[in-house]
Amino acid sequence: MDVERTVLRKAGEAIARFRMIRPGDRVAVGVSGGKDSLTLLEALSRLQKRAPIDFTICAFTIEQGKFLQPIEAVGRYLLDRGFDWTYVEDKPSLKLLTEQPGHGCDVCSRFRRRAVYEVARNLGANVVAFGHTADDFCESFLRNAMFTGRTSALPPITWSSKREFRLIRPLVYVTENLTRDFAGLLGAPVIPCGCSQKTGTVRRTLRDMLAEMEKDHPFLKETLLSAMGNIEHSRLLDTRFLNLDENSENAESASEELVVLESA
Ligand code: SF4
Repeated sequence: MDVERTVLRKAGEAIARFRMIRPGDRVAVGVSGGKDSLTLLEALSRLQKRAPIDFTICAFTIEQGKFLQPIEAVGRYLLDRGFDWTYVEDKPSLKLLTEQPGHGCDVCSRFRRRAVYEVARNLGANVVAFGHTADDFCESFLRNAMFTGRTSALPPITWSSKREFRLIRPLVYVTENLTRDFAGLLGAPVIPCGCSQKTGTVRRTLRDMLAEMEKDHPFLKETLLSAMGNIEHSRLLDTRFLNLDENSENAESASEELVVLESA
């Protein structure tokens, strides 16, 4: 498989399908030091060169005190490749880490969100791109269904609360085996986040479960992503989307269901 071509095709498909990038956009890419965000930045840069529209890209990294090694190596790599890179130490996050070292993801991501908007504003960006991958979408989909009782994953495109920024996730169709290979081909330095080493989390359990099942079903994540874009309301339990009055369409579905149940 041609890794670069596959990554660019899948990222391009997501950008087009969800209208993520529009003429004149300035896209700020959050670089965490991991393989996913480095893949995202490089993919956007390569797609930019062949895109039929004009847009600009800048990169930023927010230090929240979670990197296991100094991030300078990533900065040097990005600057050497000609990227416009900004590094910001987020003082409130560093203080939080000292005062509440056991804080959870909710408070950490709230602090990060505030810092991201501040940096993007200073960079003159109107779009912020995040490196969430197909794996993140699948895990989020399963976690929400199993532990929060909701059928949802992550938004591929959304807006910040005052619609100041469009928030996009162009790697929605790109799996992490691809970002690993792509970052490897680039020779990019990957700086792990302390949280990625955690064990015993729901996320880790779901990751391991998917990896185990993928031995027999290699396209499991692609199928899950298709399921997220192919909702059959009439076969779910949300009464907001069910026609509870008699009508021919639902009557037909109901009788089909009966046949399935009776023959089971
Ligand atoms: S995994 Fe770590 S870095 Fe990510 S939101 Fe949770 S606490 Fe923050």
